[in-house]
Amino acid sequence: MKKKGLKGVFSNFIKKTLSEEKLESALSELNLLLISNDVAIEKSIDVINEIRSKNAKGSPYVILFLGVNGTGKTTTIAKFAHFLKKNDIISVAAAADTFRAAAIEQLAYHMEKVGIRMIKHEYKSDPASVAFDTIQHAKAKNVQVVLIDTAGRQVTNKNLLIEMQKIVRVAEPDLIVFVGDSLAGNDALNQAKEFNKHVGIDANILTKLDADAKGGAALSISYETKKPIIFVGIGQGYDDLIPFNKDFFISSILEI
Ligand code: GDP
Repeated sequence: MKKKGLKGVFSNFIKKTLSEEKLESALSELNLLLISNDVAIEKSIDVINEIRSKNAKGSPYVILFLGVNGTGKTTTIAKFAHFLKKNDIISVAAAADTFRAAAIEQLAYHMEKVGIRMIKHEYKSDPASVAFDTIQHAKAKNVQVVLIDTAGRQVTNKNLLIEMQKIVRVAEPDLIVFVGDSLAGNDALNQAKEFNKHVGIDANILTKLDADAKGGAALSISYETKKPIIFVGIGQGYDDLIPFNKDFFISSILEI
């Protein structure tokens, strides 16, 4: 089947004011369009279930967060730890951004607010060893999830990329999550593509969706990376991270 251009059909939806009767058919057409273009919206990851089945084998579930600075990575980790806690899952954070001044303090601040422990080393120390120690801590204390913060980086920075690949080798994460700023539009898209190419990502979290009602970044990132968006940030509070699903996505595009 010839694939319909996403852009054309998409802009029709955005420009048109849909009457009640037409809404149902518009939704199903958009749904079909997403599926026929391999947009990974349908392929959601049930993180809670994955965590519980890994824990049944007696090991912590390890999540590595990556992205560029300022996207909301640190607050997203705190929101995520808070989300897990609300689901009776205890996590520990690894302060593996040993590169940027104040990154450790910033993560510590948020983790204290949500009541989650953080493991740290000295500033400038090896981030892979922070990740390793945090995993050891989780194993010893039966902590179910390890959340690894990493230094914000552009994939054009070779040293930081090599460092990231080392963290991945040492920590063997169960889930690598790209955190992207939905307001960054094409930049966020290019970052996701590059990280996917050089490090490999399993899923995306998009921040600041409260400020980007169109959801266009969500569409392009899941389309280009073929990896699902699992959560979205919808504000600055710790409760402002919600699981992402197709219905939320479609209604945010149609602004209904
Ligand atoms: P990092 O440099 O990637 O770790 O970014 P931070 O976690 O420090 O976040 C940068 C700014 O974005 C902070 O002011 C956050 O409160 C804000 N932020 C993060 N997520 C969201 C979101 O979903 N919505 C809004 N409105 N602001 C957010």
